[in-house]
Amino acid sequence: MGKIIAISNQKGGVGKTTTAINLSSGLSYMQKKVLLIDLDSQGNASTGLSAIKEKGQPTVYSVLFEGYNIQDAIVHLKAPAIDVLPANLTLSGADLLMDKIEQKELLLKNAIAPIKNDYDFIIIDCPPSLGLLNTNALSAADSVLIPVQCEYYALEGVTQLLMTIRLVQKTSNPNLKIEGLVMTMYDARTNLSMEVSQDVRQTFGKLVYQSNIPRNIKLSEAPSRGLSIFEYDVNSAGARCYGDLTKEFVKRNEEFYGE
Ligand code: ADP
Ligand code: MG
Repeated sequence: MGKIIAISNQKGGVGKTTTAINLSSGLSYMQKKVLLIDLDSQGNASTGLSAIKEKGQPTVYSVLFEGYNIQDAIVHLKAPAIDVLPANLTLSGADLLMDKIEQKELLLKNAIAPIKNDYDFIIIDCPPSLGLLNTNALSAADSVLIPVQCEYYALEGVTQLLMTIRLVQKTSNPNLKIEGLVMTMYDARTNLSMEVSQDVRQTFGKLVYQSNIPRNIKLSEAPSRGLSIFEYDVNSAGARCYGDLTKEFVKRNEEFYGE
């Protein structure tokens, strides 16, 4: 049964897309079948994996608003061996368009339904806002994975997101769980990183992943080659830590399903 995970945080630049790409890729190297859905009009996950091949190619927008079959919009990549439902700037009008549609929170859920069980994991890279696209992701998802950047005010952003999650639980998706929190751009040399990480761990306990993701230049370079960190530089600290995160993620899910 496919599990759908939304990677969400309304703050921009906290590592959502980097985590979406590298967790998806990491899972593929653990023989999991993965679909990565780009739900951000900036299309960073799509370009960062070279999933946009030609102009006018169908995207998640075509599926949500133009009646395209989801299978026709999905791109099959070789390295990493994952499928991607790409996005581009057309998606920037989505919130306005959705507003007029009945059951607007469930558009994505309904679009994914026919292919959900073709995958072990479906990862949704959310936009940096709490608008309707994000609500669609949370309504479709089984769980939310929250990247938290090691900086001041990190917890404030999370509190706001948790309120949104509770609202979605009360309305469109009562079964929505929190998959976990991941500390990103961690710098062990700074007190700030350690303090924020400790703070978040004190507040959220076991929900926080053991593996912190360090600030690593290779992680920011990989997208310019259209690669995940595992193809770009498998020996980097970034690859090691996203590898650890992926293993932790799989272990938690195996415990969850009792496999
Ligand atoms: P979001 O999707 O939350 O906006 P991104 O994953 O796009 O965040 O990250 C924002 C920027 O920071 C990007 O340029 C990305 O390459 C870079 N970045 C993300 N995580 C790291 C990291 N651990 N180390 C170094 N750079 C990172
Ligand atoms: Mg992003």
